[in-house]
Amino acid sequence: MGAYIDFSGRNVLVTGASRGIGRDVAKELLGMGANVIAHSRSGPGALRDATGKVGGSLKYVAADLSTREGVERVASFVEGCCTELHGLVNNAGIYSGLALGEETFDNWDLTVNTNLRAPFFLARLLRERLRAGKGSVVNISSIMGLSASAGAYPYQASKSALIHITRALSLELAPDVRVNCVAPGFIMTDMNKEGWNDASFRKEVEERTPLGRWGRPEDISSAVCFLLSERASFITGETILVDGGKSLF
Ligand code: NAD
Repeated sequence: MGAYIDFSGRNVLVTGASRGIGRDVAKELLGMGANVIAHSRSGPGALRDATGKVGGSLKYVAADLSTREGVERVASFVEGCCTELHGLVNNAGIYSGLALGEETFDNWDLTVNTNLRAPFFLARLLRERLRAGKGSVVNISSIMGLSASAGAYPYQASKSALIHITRALSLELAPDVRVNCVAPGFIMTDMNKEGWNDASFRKEVEERTPLGRWGRPEDISSAVCFLLSERASFITGETILVDGGKSLF
């Protein structure tokens, strides 16, 4: 992708960039010349080994995005780094698969605040920087935000609402800023390592996925980088499913 997308001089904030999908997005962007502001909960984590691939520059900011203070800290850090923000990737998220009878108020708040409130308020707090940069926001939802299942209620609610908020924000911020969403299927990251370490579940997902495999972080970062780039300059309010066809039936 680097051969036909150039992010040189573009400032991009990626949340949850220490591992998994966020780490891959940050690495791809660095390789394409972006100035990446990499957020993580506690430090650079596994992103540290990507610094050898830097084409642009890399800055870190640590914050707990389930809290108002954490969201405000990230926004202030970005404001201190640049006057124009060209990309915001709202990737940080948590999953909990509690059944209806196990769900708690605290878990609901933690999940919804991290997965929905933080992306919304980062866009709200950084809107003028994004407008100045004619930027692009990409929110990471999930196929669980589109198709219902029993359990994981705050996760499903937050990911579904994120798709709708994407559409609403795309109207508010047009024509200067595009706002889109990527909805991954089953991706091999720490978030669901219990699933892909379980041989029978792993096989079940493969069998129920038309393309016959689990997704990889780079499957998602390709879509994210496309949506961030000028190649997607006429796309806004959209959600792209990246799930190997799993949601087709
Ligand atoms: P992951 O668990 O490897 O990474 C999640 C990232 O979010 C980590 O960097 C983590 O530190 C960060 N994070 C979580 N809570 C945070 C908090 N309170 N404050 C700050 N940072 C926090 O998982 P992943 O698979 O890379 O997930 C990335 C995104 O993709 C998430 O939004 C997730 O819901 C979504 N997603 C993943 C899958 C999948 O199968 N892995 C499927 C659909 C959607």
